[in-house]
Amino acid sequence: MDYSEFSFAPPSRLDAWLNSLRLGHADDKPRIAVSACLTGQPVRYDGGNRYDGTVARVLRRWLLLQEYCPEMAIGLGVPRPPIQLVRTADGLRVRGVADSQQDVTHALRGFADTLPASLSGAVLKARSPSCGVDNTPVWAEQGEPLGTASGAFAARLSERAPLLPMISEPALARAEQVELFVLQVYCYRQYQRWGAGEWLVTVRDAVAEWKVEAVRAPLLAYLERVLD
Ligand code: SF4
Repeated sequence: MDYSEFSFAPPSRLDAWLNSLRLGHADDKPRIAVSACLTGQPVRYDGGNRYDGTVARVLRRWLLLQEYCPEMAIGLGVPRPPIQLVRTADGLRVRGVADSQQDVTHALRGFADTLPASLSGAVLKARSPSCGVDNTPVWAEQGEPLGTASGAFAARLSERAPLLPMISEPALARAEQVELFVLQVYCYRQYQRWGAGEWLVTVRDAVAEWKVEAVRAPLLAYLERVLD
């Protein structure tokens, strides 16, 4: 992704929104989980990475990035045989592509449970059997494609904290999407600190006045979920 696509030179519209909503400041950034391959770490099965400038550079202005590679964390090394998401009679499993006896579903879900509950969001690599968020190819045991689902690590994170803002890197391709995600993370951090209190109604009423529909509508929908 091209970092130069974004014109976030301070003071940006996002800074102005965060200030007006009183959701935090530059010395008090929320911490989010990030797939380590997106920041350039050589942790993919083939020893490569999937560096993404928006994640590694743009987001850092507002967020602290805590990098994780679930597959490395459960002891799969580099290089390692690829794994995939398979629908079985026991539900979705993460298995070896070449060795269907290899099943790392439990280990990946268990690793998700070790992440701190204080994390306020996650940006995870798309289409990964571990990290994908609703976009990972699912295969039948016989090998036919069966649509998409979340990877085992991402699915467990979402089960643990259903309101946690969680996104794949292709969904940060436009400035409004970056703004929306950062705003959701700051709102979630406020929710972690204060619960769904009066602040949430104040923020919702202020956002309802915003003119940028691409941010206003989805942020209001998110705030309604938090208020529920
Ligand atoms: S997608 Fe997730 S599991 Fe795969 S290399 Fe990146 S961080 Fe590791």
